[in-house]
Amino acid sequence: MLREDSLAAEVRTARESLPARYAGRTVLAIGAHPDDLEIGIGGTLAKLQKNGANVVMCVASIPKDYEVRLEEATEGARILGCELKILMEGGPRRIEDIKTCELVGLVDGVIREYQPAAVLTHSKSDFHNDHLLIYNACLPAQRLGFFDLLSYHPTNCRPVPIAFHPTAYVDVTDTIDAKMHAISAHASQFGGRGLDTEMYREFAHVQGRMIGVPYAEGLDVIRMVLA
Ligand SMILES: [Zn+2]
Repeated sequence: MLREDSLAAEVRTARESLPARYAGRTVLAIGAHPDDLEIGIGGTLAKLQKNGANVVMCVASIPKDYEVRLEEATEGARILGCELKILMEGGPRRIEDIKTCELVGLVDGVIREYQPAAVLTHSKSDFHNDHLLIYNACLPAQRLGFFDLLSYHPTNCRPVPIAFHPTAYVDVTDTIDAKMHAISAHASQFGGRGLDTEMYREFAHVQGRMIGVPYAEGLDVIRMVLA
């Protein structure tokens, strides 16, 4: 009886885990710039991919140094085992230079193309205007299908106070090293500017304390379909 109980608990845990939820399905992560996804949610993306999800890292724009940053984004995605998609491809573009309706159209297009089970995007608590533009463009995409919609922690490159309150946490203990490695692929943004990346590991450690694991990433659930 005891054995059956523990087996049932194991099955229940497996069914309720985030990786099990998206195994065999597509998860679309959308970030404004190269490095946002690695910083915000790199550990989660690597974990989902390792557990059988098809994870697409969609970078909306590369504002400058196109070739260098494309190469860094390609390497970051390779380290996390994910597919890379550049939304505004072909050369340096700024998100704020296109109309809102055009941006919504681009996001709609990528949702229609990949038919994701989940979309992960910037948070409304972010203070970078490009990040907020992407968040706002993802909200209307909910009309296209019943995918889960989740926000990740603001992706600041310097430590600043942020009013982000996660409502869900992902244990990324097994993938924190991949996350840190993927962040370091963006050498032009960190070492090249004298910025330290170690704060992301420390932050994941603090998030991990919230759920009793060494490392975690926090998410804000905007919409989740519970069957
Ligand atoms: Zn950014």
